[in-house]
Amino acid sequence: MGIGNAPLTPLEQPVTELRGVGPERAALLARLGIRTVGDLLLHRPRRYEDRRRLERIAGLKLNESATTQGRIVAQGVKYWKQRRKSLFECVLDDGTGRLHCRWWNLPFMENYFKVGDEVLVYGKVRSLKPRAIDHPETETIEGGEDRSIHLHRIVPIYPLTEGLTQRWLRALIWRALEACGNAFEEPWPDLNRGNLPTRAVAVRQLHFPDEMGDAEAARGRLALDELTDLQLAIQRRRRRLHELARALPCGGDNRLMKRFLRSLGFKLTESQTEVLREIRRDLAGSHPMRRLLQGDVGSGKTVVAACAALMTLESGFNVALMAPTEILAEQHGCVFARWFGPLGLGVALQTGSQKSFLTAPAGEIAVSLAGPGDAKDPSEPGVALAGPVVTVGTHALVEAGYCPDALGLAIIDEQHKFGVAQRERLVRKGHYPHLLVMTATPIPRSLGLTLYGDLDISVINQMPAGRGRVRTHLRSESSLPKVFDFVREKLGEGRQAYIVCPRIEEGDGPAAVKTVREEFDRVRTLFAPHAVGLLHGRLPPQEKDRVMEGFRAGRIAVLVATSIIEVGVDVPNATVMVIENAESYGLAQLHQLRGRIGRGREESHCILIAAACTDEARRRLEALEQTNDGFRIAETDLLLRGPGEFLGQAQSGMPRFRFVELARDLALVEQARTAAAGLLDSDAA
Ligand code: ADP
Ligand code: MG
Repeated sequence: MGIGNAPLTPLEQPVTELRGVGPERAALLARLGIRTVGDLLLHRPRRYEDRRRLERIAGLKLNESATTQGRIVAQGVKYWKQRRKSLFECVLDDGTGRLHCRWWNLPFMENYFKVGDEVLVYGKVRSLKPRAIDHPETETIEGGEDRSIHLHRIVPIYPLTEGLTQRWLRALIWRALEACGNAFEEPWPDLNRGNLPTRAVAVRQLHFPDEMGDAEAARGRLALDELTDLQLAIQRRRRRLHELARALPCGGDNRLMKRFLRSLGFKLTESQTEVLREIRRDLAGSHPMRRLLQGDVGSGKTVVAACAALMTLESGFNVALMAPTEILAEQHGCVFARWFGPLGLGVALQTGSQKSFLTAPAGEIAVSLAGPGDAKDPSEPGVALAGPVVTVGTHALVEAGYCPDALGLAIIDEQHKFGVAQRERLVRKGHYPHLLVMTATPIPRSLGLTLYGDLDISVINQMPAGRGRVRTHLRSESSLPKVFDFVREKLGEGRQAYIVCPRIEEGDGPAAVKTVREEFDRVRTLFAPHAVGLLHGRLPPQEKDRVMEGFRAGRIAVLVATSIIEVGVDVPNATVMVIENAESYGLAQLHQLRGRIGRGREESHCILIAAACTDEARRRLEALEQTNDGFRIAETDLLLRGPGEFLGQAQSGMPRFRFVELARDLALVEQARTAAAGLLDSDAA
């Protein structure tokens, strides 16, 4: 942007400065996010066509996509069913043969072509007798314009918007490149970009590559610049924090830790112990910890969080733990109260604006006996502190007036359910508290470094011993009765089961997909006399509590639920999970859901019911049948669905890239990270 009176650089000029772009076309370009000449030159082609070697019509192969060229020798529209159905056909001839291009129910296509036009078409060949392509992409070759732009080379095919044509946009970009292609400077001239082209060359090759490989190299170079920008921002933020912030010393003195570990009833895995060593080093240091703890579902992150909390409490500071759902917050509250109560530590639960003490810090016992609601908030000024407190809550923690002094440690469970903004708001509650974020969504490394580049990463890569195996089975809708027989058998053996459906009730989404309400009514009679409970996000909180408590205590044998149970719920006796309409979930989410079982010693069974679904969906689900490795599943999911879908709505922190493709750009992410660190070290950025 021009500052003050500084003249705009060529790339900052509005597109209206280009010949042939008036206000109307500028408005159309704006719909593609193109406002300046620079935007225009970074408009990324969605594919390329090699027009140096066009296929001859006679050589077209069935079911293959190809670009070919010919002259229109005949065309016309046929109607039937009282003109409600139509077919527009135009027949191309190139001297070797004829090709029928067909458009169904788009009779106005007739207006775009006339006999004698020379046309380029791209599409998949549907039949050979006659040779036909349905709904091809087309370009009419016009006389009088520069053929060298559109023919006899590799040409770019752009994302368009109604009212713009490929040829017009391609010619515009061609001219803009000639005028200002050289205005792209090296943003960081000192950086060694290896074999990659300069930025100016990359922009040229992005649009008009000499070879297909040049287009990919150009994309890589431009992606690297995007990633370097991002890494610089992340690392600058991190360095600033490091300079400014002095952390509270929260390493603890082991006074309570030994008693706690002895009372647990199990031994920490080596992996858990190793992670705790890293955390203790951070907590005892003078800079605030910023650490992401990754561990597959069931790997035991909660107890690690508890140990970190304990170190902080031993040091005399408060702890906040934020969970994504009330169910999970309450579960954590109960677990922490059970673990910390005997140590004389305070555990409070914050739901909405209400705060209640589950256990009081030693010395405040008289207060807690007056009823949990009446307990004083030890963080309120003027209340004599008997001891530091862990406050567990949902996002209510960042919204309500919760603002303790002496917040030593903030913990966020299931980070992927929160946005980066919420994480930052929690941290701002205190004076640079230590931060531990935990996630069970195994994030592929490229995504991790991009999204969590400002965090150190610890990984629990080992499951606690003594867990039963989880077997996964893919079944079709028609075997549901047999599946339910199997569930009943397991209930007879004293086990419990989850039945998961995607929707709550009619009207919530695609009608073909099951709702928990219907399924609840159906299985209630089916599984009688075993008690069946219903759980979803729209129930009043007390009802949710009642159902969850009943399931935990074993009074409820079958829980019919939405994916609300995907995070954190821990009931080891539940060994069967039936997921209906499994095709409507992402792989990572199914893996999370499946993590609810296999928590006890018994063998567990996860049964995915796929309704009528595509082959591709079926293949995705088969991946789950074959592996329990969350990282492999996440990589597959990222590759298949891209980062936006993979992460869901919550990740507002996900930057918007034009050129980066995280699923394949890990090497570039690493390169950008090193480059950014080097630039900051040498003060060159
Ligand atoms: P997640 O990592 O998915 O949050 P949890 O922390 O809920 O997993 O742990 C799952 C279960 O495993 C809990 O019941 C927990 O008490 C238990 N657990 C954790 N660590 C161990 C261990 N080292 N040995 C045995 N059981 C453990
Ligand atoms: Mg958990």
